[in-house]
Amino acid sequence: MKDITTIEDLQNVVKVRLSPKRFAHTLGVLDMARRLANHYGVSIEKAEVAAVLHDAMKERPLQEMQTMVMDAQIAVDSEMLNNGALLHGPAAAAYAKLELQIQDESICEAIRVHTLGSTHMSLLDKIIFLADYIEPNRDFPGVEELRALAFKDLNAAVIRAYDGTIRHLLDQGLSIHVDTIRGRNSVLLERSDT
Ligand code: FE
Ligand code: FE
Repeated sequence: MKDITTIEDLQNVVKVRLSPKRFAHTLGVLDMARRLANHYGVSIEKAEVAAVLHDAMKERPLQEMQTMVMDAQIAVDSEMLNNGALLHGPAAAAYAKLELQIQDESICEAIRVHTLGSTHMSLLDKIIFLADYIEPNRDFPGVEELRALAFKDLNAAVIRAYDGTIRHLLDQGLSIHVDTIRGRNSVLLERSDT
């Protein structure tokens, strides 16, 4: 492993693995994750590491993602295992663990679930999930309102991000992974509990 002591070092590790466009997206996620972490009293360092690494495996071949996930013994179902769009989160978590020796489970978990979401998401999980959705390079109807909502009511914003993802999948005639449905349900329950 190269010497990584600062977040800039980590950015440089990721930069060579990504297209310029995806690296710009990663820096956008970093920016948004920092702001949300600061706002919600979550460790900024953890948010930075998770944000920088979240898409680190996205441009690697599917087979490489599969090997990495299996080596790290990260549990995935066959739907995830055979689809790079779904597997890149678990693969990036595996990369963080195996290649970069990142031991912090909360960081690896936020990376793992950033695409599909999950039940019982931590604040850090929600911040990375949402930062990915509303980072400054994102442009879709309602993104400004959603950015504002993210700083007012995190759970409401997370639900809206789930809604947008699910609506998009429906519009495209694509399948919806159960983790996304379960993740949305669990945030809805969390809200009604409070
Ligand atoms: Fe991603
Ligand atoms: Fe991303």
